[in-house]
Amino acid sequence: MPQKYGTSSMSETAPNTATQAQGQAQDNPLLIAWQTPHQTPPFDALKPEHFLPAFEQAFADHAAEVAAITHDPATPDFANTVTALERSGKLLNKVSAVFYDLVSAHSNPAILEIDKEVSLRMARHWNPIMMNAVLFGRIALLHENRADSKLTSEEMRLLERTYTRFHRSGAGLSEEAKKRMAEINERLAHLGTSFSHHLLGDEQDWVLELSEADCAGLSDSFVAAARAAAEERGIAGKAIMTLSRSFVEQFLKSSHRRDLREKVYKAFVARGDNGNANDNKEIIVEILALREESARLLGFPTFAAYRLEDSMAKTPEAVRGLLERVWKPARARALADRDELQALITAEGGNFALAPWDWRYYAEKLRQIRANFDDGAIKPYLALDHMIEAAFDCATRLFGITFTERKDIPVWHPDVRVWEVRDAGGEHKALFYGDYFARPSKRSGAWMTSLRDQQKLDGAIAPLIINVCNFAKGADGQPALLSPDDARTLFHEFGHGLHGMLSNVTYPSLSGTSVFTDFVELPSQLYEHWQERPEVLQRFARHYQTGEPLPEDLLQRFLAARKFNQGFATVEFVSSALLDLEFHTQPAAASRDVDAFEKAELAKIGMPAEIALRHRPTQFGHIFSGDHYASGYYSYMWSEVMDADAFGAFEEAGNIFDPATAKRLHDDIYSSGGSVDPEAAYVAFRGREPEPDALLRRRGLLDEPKAA
Ligand SMILES: [Zn+2]
Repeated sequence: MPQKYGTSSMSETAPNTATQAQGQAQDNPLLIAWQTPHQTPPFDALKPEHFLPAFEQAFADHAAEVAAITHDPATPDFANTVTALERSGKLLNKVSAVFYDLVSAHSNPAILEIDKEVSLRMARHWNPIMMNAVLFGRIALLHENRADSKLTSEEMRLLERTYTRFHRSGAGLSEEAKKRMAEINERLAHLGTSFSHHLLGDEQDWVLELSEADCAGLSDSFVAAARAAAEERGIAGKAIMTLSRSFVEQFLKSSHRRDLREKVYKAFVARGDNGNANDNKEIIVEILALREESARLLGFPTFAAYRLEDSMAKTPEAVRGLLERVWKPARARALADRDELQALITAEGGNFALAPWDWRYYAEKLRQIRANFDDGAIKPYLALDHMIEAAFDCATRLFGITFTERKDIPVWHPDVRVWEVRDAGGEHKALFYGDYFARPSKRSGAWMTSLRDQQKLDGAIAPLIINVCNFAKGADGQPALLSPDDARTLFHEFGHGLHGMLSNVTYPSLSGTSVFTDFVELPSQLYEHWQERPEVLQRFARHYQTGEPLPEDLLQRFLAARKFNQGFATVEFVSSALLDLEFHTQPAAASRDVDAFEKAELAKIGMPAEIALRHRPTQFGHIFSGDHYASGYYSYMWSEVMDADAFGAFEEAGNIFDPATAKRLHDDIYSSGGSVDPEAAYVAFRGREPEPDALLRRRGLLDEPKAA
């Protein structure tokens, strides 16, 4: 998603030179009012060639609006500055939302080519706005006098957020410092792109051809995927292993060939660290030095201090506190599990010590022995349509909203489905687009985004919310069946979707998911809890052929299996998060030798030798491909503390749909967007600060060892 007032990652001070595209306006569906139901984008009429002229027009409109605000002769006030900024850029938001939906969910070479051009133009457009000293002067004046301004609490929050965004972009710096900042941003953008390209390069350069004997232990669907991967690379008729994460993890879990597991594992953890042209170590050193310099220019001692000031955690110390609290029990559990895995190896007559490439394999064996459960057994009970119904039903019971499918809304692909969402009084609330199936035109992963955000600045605007997933279609006309992970993903993204659909704020830049990175996963991760509740599964997890409910013992085994191997998963995550924090709190000079730094930090925390970091530095795209998650990788766990603790409120009420608790959840969390401070929002909902014990319990890290 484009950022509304985000800092652009590239710097370009050239004045806006957008060309006018009026001549084509009446022929360009992006530039005329939409006559569709609920003014939804007319996807059936859109062509790639419509986008560049529409963007040119949108940039020009927005630049003119911002110039008018900047040079308004009237004394700055909230309405002529902050509200006026909120009103600006309507066309840009509209065109961007449609364009980025297509880039991610249904692209083609023409769209991707336009994307390259648009990202450069986007940077050129935003940079002079975010560094505009005169505009910032107006905002800073209002901010300084805010105590006497009689603003509502939402207006006050908007003023704070607007001021902070401009301030943190460097709008208040001296011209000289701004110039240096622009150079740094430009260099960082370049380095981040190189980092990703190197990583991709090392991944693309490596393949392992699998003979029949090499496939021992691999499932039929895995081998089919390995053949498809070979075909994609022009070696049809063979099967190959590549270094994509899901492929590697599946291989390490199921391949009977210890020698090949070692080979694959070693190649995977060496990505970006091979001493070849794709080596990322020098890039990391330069990135860390530049981040430190930019933080200092903005008045912070370290990049982490800069980054975390604008988060819920606020300080590096608070992040470290959480991670260390989780680290100790997770490590203890992992060490206990390690001993059990070793015992299993010995019992099988294996005469070797457990190595990192053995962990997933023996853990899976142990899981099958202990829980007697594999994902295949539950899939027939998790039909996609039933799980969509379950997600909707939980929302109806919690928040009173209802869903009716609409067939008359234009969509970007025939597989996309649309539902109209109405509130408890039957009033129109939102449209929800579900795009569930994998296809070559879609990037991997799952996400929520919007075509239009809720706001009521000039009359109520209902949101258009999207969920995109990559589930496999059912074969031969059979319904699509989900794995337990897929079902969880469906609820996760739907939780983000509710954050967008239930939003009830005045200003567009505070709408829905416009919240801190370490808060945004709360509504999504929290929603996952309902999916794994017996009350919900018993009703909706029905066999797709017989309609039989999920048998009780399978349900119990499924729930037990969820807690399995959580010591390992927590250790690989927390160690990466701690390393991210150390990279950005210690002086950049300390990590000049990246490998030595990594080793020393892992020794400090007592990293078990049999477990690897989830992301070693040279492949840690979250923190080095761009800066969104730099010293922010902890965010997932920060949100998880809250979601586990938040669900506790329903458990304490003795009803997972308790109306009073659900009302607070709606008012304080799902509908308030960025209009209140997230900590205050959480405390309003829960009556106190979150406690990490709920997270440890959910991951099974407070249980007696062996209880898994
Ligand atoms: Zn999420």
